[in-house]
Amino acid sequence: MKSGKLIVLTGPSGVGKGTLVRSLLNRHPELYLSVSVTTRSPREGEIEGQHYYFVSRSRFEQMVEAGELAEWAEFAGNFYGTPYFGLKQGIREGKWVILEIELEGARQIRNNFPQALRIFILPPSWEELERRLRSRGQDSEIAIARRLLRAKEEIEAAGEFDFQVVNDDLEVALKKLESKLNLGELSGN
Ligand code: 5GP
Repeated sequence: MKSGKLIVLTGPSGVGKGTLVRSLLNRHPELYLSVSVTTRSPREGEIEGQHYYFVSRSRFEQMVEAGELAEWAEFAGNFYGTPYFGLKQGIREGKWVILEIELEGARQIRNNFPQALRIFILPPSWEELERRLRSRGQDSEIAIARRLLRAKEEIEAAGEFDFQVVNDDLEVALKKLESKLNLGELSGN
């Protein structure tokens, strides 16, 4: 088994990256999801240390100053970043580390870790993306509008990534991801 592989998964908010990643992790225990720090407030059901480490703005700034983040970005009014300790933990365990992050962070990773494999998840259509964002029912209208604006910019940059996967049918998208990542080989399936 190869070790120390870094996989970046990016795509507009609402595209279903979280569901894809959770399904991949359930099927392939050799994968390790890096837990990000964020200044965003927890949504209902989100658990500290599992979905994110929820931190204050000043704590986030401290982490940036101290060089504790492998990348970070501002997204829709909040800050998000990848702590080095998560990356190191995954690599120590010999796993493939997945970063589920937005475009600016993915660009920083490309510069700092050029060997990382970068994947962009696309929605089947713009209308469907909007529908998914709204059906989540957890973001305000302003937050949804900000996320849609950002989604346009992100989708325009999809060509920068190593490959793109359309998340229309979850199973089909998963199969495509597994084959692109050679996960059968990794998990011995
Ligand atoms: P959400 O608020 O919906 O959980 O996440 C908003 C966006 O921030 C998503 O596109 C998500 O992928 C991205 N994100 C989550 N964690 C990180 C991180 O550590 N770094 C960066 N750059 N983006 C992140």
